[in-house]
Amino acid sequence: MNIHEYQAKQLFQQYGIAVPKGEIASTGEQAQQVAQSLDSDAWVVKAQVHAGGRGKVGGVKVVTELNDVAGIASEMLGKRLITKQTVAEGLPIELVLVEETSAIDHEFYLSLLVDRATSGLCFVASASGGMDIEEVAESSPEKIINITVNPLSGLQSYQCRQVAFALGLRGQQIKALEKIMRALLALFVEKDASQIEVNPLITTKTGELMALDAKINFDDNALAMHSDIAAMQDKNQEDEKENLAQQFELNYITLNGTIGCMVNGAGLAMATMDLVQLSGGQPANFLDVGGGATKERVAEAFKLILSDTQVKAVLVNIFGGIVQCNIIAEGIIAAAAEIGVTIPVIVRLEGTNAPEGRALLNESTLNITAAENLQSAAEMAVALAEAA
Ligand code: GDP
Ligand code: MN
Repeated sequence: MNIHEYQAKQLFQQYGIAVPKGEIASTGEQAQQVAQSLDSDAWVVKAQVHAGGRGKVGGVKVVTELNDVAGIASEMLGKRLITKQTVAEGLPIELVLVEETSAIDHEFYLSLLVDRATSGLCFVASASGGMDIEEVAESSPEKIINITVNPLSGLQSYQCRQVAFALGLRGQQIKALEKIMRALLALFVEKDASQIEVNPLITTKTGELMALDAKINFDDNALAMHSDIAAMQDKNQEDEKENLAQQFELNYITLNGTIGCMVNGAGLAMATMDLVQLSGGQPANFLDVGGGATKERVAEAFKLILSDTQVKAVLVNIFGGIVQCNIIAEGIIAAAAEIGVTIPVIVRLEGTNAPEGRALLNESTLNITAAENLQSAAEMAVALAEAA
């Protein structure tokens, strides 16, 4: 789960990480009041959406006239912000964060994430922080350093100094960075985060370190243990189809391709997506209907896939271990008939009662094809999607 910048900054404050003073507002008038209450001669108005890249598209504005704050805030509010990190239609701006401006001396990049290669938490840092960090990562990766935290011995002071030196920090700043790194680590572990990003972390003209931006992702599977974090969820920022999937306990993730995939088992779903790619197509989604898929779940999954207008063909790949293939076939036929599916559906069934399942599909008058094997199913789906 993602949270907003202002919420992440509240957590930073709880953990002793300095952030600029500010408040959120939902109207231009409110934004103006917040600005007025801040003892500053300039203000930053920041669109609150679950995505980065706001600075490049007008989602972060520095305002030097108090009387301009209301206008600039109301211009953002109610619109959708499209950044490199959002879906094509962008995300709704329902809140802005109004902050005092900070006198920036330098912008750094600092993040903490799970590194699967070392099975540990890893700090990623760069002296070239700010809005072009992706470009830095691409063209000069040597400017980015990684420090892995050993889960047994914990974060060592020398590791913090390594980061501090790489960032070119001096004197008191070195201790200050260690404090921030320890706070990030504590926050990460205690709240079951999966990623924290501070970009930019800045030094001010007076030499202080401060988090100017904050992004935190949390592990969905741990949310039940953190009611404070779960309460921060903003469904309006999330994918509608993914929220719907959650209701039916389907593991669904929207992707960009044209081939809708319905698979039982996460591993099989990943392998299916690989095969689609190998056959020259692009999956429209990841969808695991689960091991114990029922007729109803299959029907809901089907509706979900087809609600994506990008989908030109559906590839169903079910291995009948616990579930029986004939039951799945009935579910597919019922769902396809109910919603009036017009696009081709290719089904690969294997396992318990597979011949019965395939026979049911072949008997149906709907646009459903039972494939011989997974390879040909994937190839057929790609060819039919391309032809559409
Ligand atoms: P993002 O583009 O969504 O990551 O949004 P950020 O919060 O990182 O803001 C983008 C950029 O706006 C930062 O890299 C800064 O250069 C600039 N910015 C943000 N806050 C301030 C501020 O208080 N003062 C000044 N001068 N610039 C700011
Ligand atoms: Mn940023």
